[in-house]
Amino acid sequence: MTVAQVIDGVALSKQLRQQISDRVSQLKQQGITPGLAVLLVGDNAASQVYVRNKIKACEDTGFKSVLEQYPATLTEAELLQRVQALNQDLSIHGILVQLPLPEHIDGQKVIEAISPAKDVDGFHVASAGALMVGQPGFWPCTPYGCMKMLESIGYALRGKHAVVIGRSNIVGKPMALMLLQQHATVTICHSATADLGHMTRQADVLIAAVGKQNLVTADMVKPGAVVIDVGMNRNAEGKLCGDVDYEGVKHVAGWITPVPGGVGPMTITMLLMNTLEAAEHELPHA
Ligand code: NAD
Repeated sequence: MTVAQVIDGVALSKQLRQQISDRVSQLKQQGITPGLAVLLVGDNAASQVYVRNKIKACEDTGFKSVLEQYPATLTEAELLQRVQALNQDLSIHGILVQLPLPEHIDGQKVIEAISPAKDVDGFHVASAGALMVGQPGFWPCTPYGCMKMLESIGYALRGKHAVVIGRSNIVGKPMALMLLQQHATVTICHSATADLGHMTRQADVLIAAVGKQNLVTADMVKPGAVVIDVGMNRNAEGKLCGDVDYEGVKHVAGWITPVPGGVGPMTITMLLMNTLEAAEHELPHA
């Protein structure tokens, strides 16, 4: 029985982080240390893990990182003030506000307060607009990581049918635009799609970004397809798993990403890449 080739997000991240680290060294020689500020409000356990991983990745690659942690009682005005101060801070090139924020804070308003030049998460409407019209700007890290995974296997998207499951502003929609920019024919599926399997079976490239364990089963996959699993779920045993039934789908797909060890590490790597590029803009020729 054939088994799909694995796109290893850990190995690819390691390779890319080495390249990032080399570029950081070059920047430092020119007196610039890329700096990322991460703002965390409240005590969401998952957010704390994500933030810790981001800070550690910064340290490992030679970035300056600043973690600002605030209690859930922080007001929206106070948070906006911190964002404004970081916009002015010349040692900070990227600002990341960890989502979700407590309910009394309007997350989109806070994201819009970040200078687009420091919007390394790519969530600002200016970044979204730039992606939409094909202008330079920061791409959201998770779909950007998926694109790097496709690039790593030399996959040519022109003329291929890509199906994205999920239409969120941070994954599904930007993912679809990036695939379109690379000349794929793109279909977006979501919670109101009538016959998901009918759509997914047409996919040469299938991206699952929903948050439902085993949503994509082997009978929903075209033989030889590239299957990228963005989902992050906990199974009954509490173990991390994706949206794709990996054990079943790996016998149908041509390429597959595992969870863990797939898109997850790539997301942080692309955050580093965006922050590095924000810092490189300081160079005279940039
Ligand atoms: P979201 O909840 O904002 O969006 C989920 C999308 O799935 C929605 O657009 C919805 O229409 C669609 N959907 C829901 N049920 C569906 C169904 N039965 N059939 C088809 N579509 C359906 O989530 P998100 O922020 O886009 O994240 C999606 C998943 O990706 C989550 O599991 C999240 O944890 C994960 N994620 C992973 C990373 C990473 O670094 N690996 C980063 C971001 C998000």
